[in-house]
Amino acid sequence: MVQEGLYLESPREDLDWSSLRFSYTKCPSLVISDIDISDGADGAQWSAPRAIPHDPLKLEPSAGALNYGQTIFEGIKAFRHDDGSIHMFRIDENAKRLQRSAERILIPQVPEEIFVRAVKMCCVWNSSYVPPYDSGGALYLRPLVVATEPYLGVRSSKVFRLVVYATPVGPFFSKPEGLAVRLVTGFHRSYPNGVGSTKMGGNYAPCMQSMAEARQSGYDLVLYLDAKGRGLVEESTAANFFALVDGVLRTPSTHRKTILDGITCDSICYIARHVLGMKVVDDEDLPVELVRTAEQAFFTGTAVIVSPVKRIGHEADSEMAVICKSLDLAQELKVILTDIQFGRREAPEGWLTQVTPSDLEPLT
Ligand SMILES: *Cc1c(COP(=O)(O)O)cnc(C)c1O
Repeated sequence: MVQEGLYLESPREDLDWSSLRFSYTKCPSLVISDIDISDGADGAQWSAPRAIPHDPLKLEPSAGALNYGQTIFEGIKAFRHDDGSIHMFRIDENAKRLQRSAERILIPQVPEEIFVRAVKMCCVWNSSYVPPYDSGGALYLRPLVVATEPYLGVRSSKVFRLVVYATPVGPFFSKPEGLAVRLVTGFHRSYPNGVGSTKMGGNYAPCMQSMAEARQSGYDLVLYLDAKGRGLVEESTAANFFALVDGVLRTPSTHRKTILDGITCDSICYIARHVLGMKVVDDEDLPVELVRTAEQAFFTGTAVIVSPVKRIGHEADSEMAVICKSLDLAQELKVILTDIQFGRREAPEGWLTQVTPSDLEPLT
């Protein structure tokens, strides 16, 4: 049974798709699901996801998400192909990562089926906001899980809400000459056995000061180093880092759980290995010493896609300066990745999930 009104729409005509940037545009629908584990986590289940008109969330001032930061999120893009069909990129990986983040801060696991359904529903209900194929934009879907129970003493909440909102997005950076990156020395975003590998709200607020300072000094992005002072490059606030050193593509290993497992990062490693036939090292540390000799460097993420770096450094320490000779590899990888996402090149098995109105039929 297809419910009334559930069909994919073409892009709205009242939006200027060509001027879209990575910024927020309100879409008409949200999707929500709730869980209450007051009687124990075992029998509790997330409610069937449902679409509601977009409205601000009503939260108690004492909600755990607001007071103690018990909140996690994901970021996924949906792409309109040339034939009008809509496809999400590697959503199963987002479902699994949300589960890993949830586990770390005692949020009840959202089953993959519920998660994928909620995100698909949000996509269908807002389908007129999926940008046209030739705009190069995408619908960014942001699932959040927030602790909503009102209580006071520090403990884990017993009530949570999954909320998925959507916003059409275009390019994050428009700097064809490449990014200026500041190595951050006075602050660490992550530390061994901490929470740096989770997509939890609390990982982002502490980074804002170093980002603002970098921007004031003329940089586009920050790059954090390991907290133990070993001079190891980790990542940016919300993007993974790659360097091409002696013809080998390197990204720092995530084994210490200080770096977020990026799905774009994993996809780029796959493409570099299997499409370009390159040597890729992703299971070793990446000393800043090695980065200093990099021929090329770039960042990856759902938002930034593949963004090439022009220079890396810190204005107070000229020893740190790295100038990249070329942006070619980042550009080539970006073309291959976006060709896959937009259906111009065959996707590896399971990378694209088509979104259809039948996804909104009741769960059986
Ligand atoms: C989201 C995020 C990334 C990029 O992950 P993708 O799955 O590629 O979008 C990298 N680092 C951090 C800290 C992030 O939050």
